[in-house]
Amino acid sequence: MIYFGPAGNSVSFYEQGHKNTYEAFAWLHNMGLNAYEYSFGRGVRLGQAAAEKIAEQAALYGVKLSVHAPYYINLATDDPEKMENNARYLLQSVTAARWMGAKRVVFHAGSLGKLKREQAFERVKDSLSDILNRLETARIFDVEICPETMGRIKQIGDMDEVIALCRLDERLVPAIDFGHLHARGLGALKTEEDFAAVLDKLERELGGERAKRFHVHFSRIEYTAAGEKMHRTFADTMYGPDFAPLAVQIVKRGLEPTLICESKGTMAEDAAEMKRIYMETRVKA
Ligand SMILES: [Zn+2]
Repeated sequence: MIYFGPAGNSVSFYEQGHKNTYEAFAWLHNMGLNAYEYSFGRGVRLGQAAAEKIAEQAALYGVKLSVHAPYYINLATDDPEKMENNARYLLQSVTAARWMGAKRVVFHAGSLGKLKREQAFERVKDSLSDILNRLETARIFDVEICPETMGRIKQIGDMDEVIALCRLDERLVPAIDFGHLHARGLGALKTEEDFAAVLDKLERELGGERAKRFHVHFSRIEYTAAGEKMHRTFADTMYGPDFAPLAVQIVKRGLEPTLICESKGTMAEDAAEMKRIYMETRVKA
């Protein structure tokens, strides 16, 4: 099973008079979509009752949920108080995800700040291990934690780092943001071979279920010499990457990822376009 859906709600969803996320699932179902990522980017501010209403509607329309943990989490911090807060934000995301029936929590590992890359990465590893231990102590095993590939060079989250983190524990599933890889590689993803190299690495170095049913973020993206500048839409064809060559590779390899579209404003429409491209590719194969 392959899943397509948006991160958050499209502008058109609100323009059509909808106000609440629980209304999104019938709407997405009508577009042929079956995934949705709920953002806690600016903080976990969702009560249990609202989360359960989302769970009920998503289940009714067969939409698979994931959540995105707060953007300000930085597991590379050397401040013990900040570290404790970071752990709390991630655990809050897990709690709210479970209320919602979401099985995946995507997060950004952190940025280098004044640290050397290796130092920052070691901190992230230690913090993440600590968080996994806490989940274990709380007997929470039904949520996968997904470190994301990041768009700026000074952020922790290139392919090697995300794979190395995932090796810490089976509960860690890679969130491959292809827009981010394209941006941090200063336009790295152009040909089918470029995408194949990413998927080969995943297969070779992680393998198994996690190289088949991983998490994907996709959008066209604008970048500078430092990497990511801003997410664009599928209409902004002057910016890469293009989804078509990735679709060919997904079909060829029989992969079953969850693909979340992060286009700016048209995330649901572009997710439907990704699905259309994928279906068309599959028919031709
Ligand atoms: Zn993200």
